Amino acid sequence: MITSKTSFIALIGNPVNHSLSPIMQNAALEYLGLDLIYIAIPCKDEDLKLVLNSLKKINCKGLNITIPYKEKVFDLCSEISPIAKKLKAINTLKLNSEQKWSATNTDVEGFIYPLKTVNLTKKQSMVLGSGGAARSVIQGLINLNLSTITVVSRNKSSLDAIIKNFGNQIEIHGLLNNDNQTQNLIEEADLIVNTTPIGMKTITNEANVLPYGETFWRSLSSKTIVYDLIYNPAPTPLLKFSAKKGCITIDGLQMLVAQGVKSLSFWTNGLEVPFHIMNDALKKYLKKIDPNF
Ligand code: NAP
Repeated sequence: MITSKTSFIALIGNPVNHSLSPIMQNAALEYLGLDLIYIAIPCKDEDLKLVLNSLKKINCKGLNITIPYKEKVFDLCSEISPIAKKLKAINTLKLNSEQKWSATNTDVEGFIYPLKTVNLTKKQSMVLGSGGAARSVIQGLINLNLSTITVVSRNKSSLDAIIKNFGNQIEIHGLLNNDNQTQNLIEEADLIVNTTPIGMKTITNEANVLPYGETFWRSLSSKTIVYDLIYNPAPTPLLKFSAKKGCITIDGLQMLVAQGVKSLSFWTNGLEVPFHIMNDALKKYLKKIDPNF
């Protein structure tokens, strides 16, 4: 029950009205019996500083930060974790004992969560896309001790930047998506991760499209694990195609839940957070809004 003692956690971004975080976080907060609620607050660029400073003063216990502010909040935080600094992206804030924002990033742990039971040490991987999520994925693959990463992108400048950023930590190569070498690498890859938005439900005119087109995938073999960061539709066109080829497939829902679990644990100073409660709440909600989910 919301009472006069109830405090809150908020998601700050623009837009925020499609976010699933309130669904899963409120389910967990209720299950844990915490006197907290989670709300989404849209915020304009020019108001970001004012909003973050004001939230410190009105009983807000923590924040999630989403697009387009994951980099912009750096200047508004007094403590920043090494992982957030490395990724140049913040997704979670909490108030420290001096009532200042302490920041971290939980996306890497979210990405790794579904791979925890898979031995990928010294294995070969491919990452599709070179945007924000690709950075968390690459850091996750480094943490999991893979031997090589090939990043495939259509964007030469962000591709070059990402290779430069991680080049001293792992054997990492960049290829444009129309490069002929991709075929051999796809055939040999133990894990391929799609971080492009191709296949998302919102791209209505491109139903059943695969990242970089169907011919890009012609050498995919059944030994490859295919991980798509997209979770709606389930399965995505890529995961449907890969399952038909006999591949093990992983969608983005577990990552979404796992980063949320880590954020809630950060806000509550290490409380054990129920993954299944958040996961079930999301699945139930997605089914309610789309019976085909
Ligand atoms: P982003 O920073 O915009 O990066 C997207 C990447 O995909 C860029 O390299 C972009 O290239 C490329 N791309 C976009 N449209 C493309 C197209 N039509 N053909 C080829 N390449 C294309 O976005 P992000 O934050 O990394 O997110 C990417 C995806 O991951 C989204 O679908 C997001 O929902 C999903 N995601 C899921 C989770 C989860 O928890 N499951 C977490 C984070 C992200 P350009 O630079 O050339 O546009």
